[in-house]
Amino acid sequence: MGKRKSRSKPVKRRVEKLETVFSCPFCNYGRNVQCRIYKVKLASGGEKWIGTADCYICHEVFHTPATALTEPIDIYSEWIDECERVNNELLDKCEPANKRNRCEVY
Ligand SMILES: [Zn+2]
Repeated sequence: MGKRKSRSKPVKRRVEKLETVFSCPFCNYGRNVQCRIYKVKLASGGEKWIGTADCYICHEVFHTPATALTEPIDIYSEWIDECERVNNELLDKCEPANKRNRCEVY
């Protein structure tokens, strides 16, 4: 008795837990950045999606337009891209000598 084989194969469904918490590019303090996606109602009657990432240690906040398909990791990687771009701009403006040196190495 007791052959309890169900007909359907027990499919191991791995629940992919999508990451919503990331490490902060500013304070690098660990997993302090919470990424969220909001749907915002517009005065015109439409709606739009906004992604935010904020660090609860240094309170850096990043906002970016999102879509219904945006995942928290997308917002985080956009934030990292944005940080890198800003960093590069700062390098261009403030440390020309430094940059030249770096170029000579190559
Ligand atoms: Zn931080």
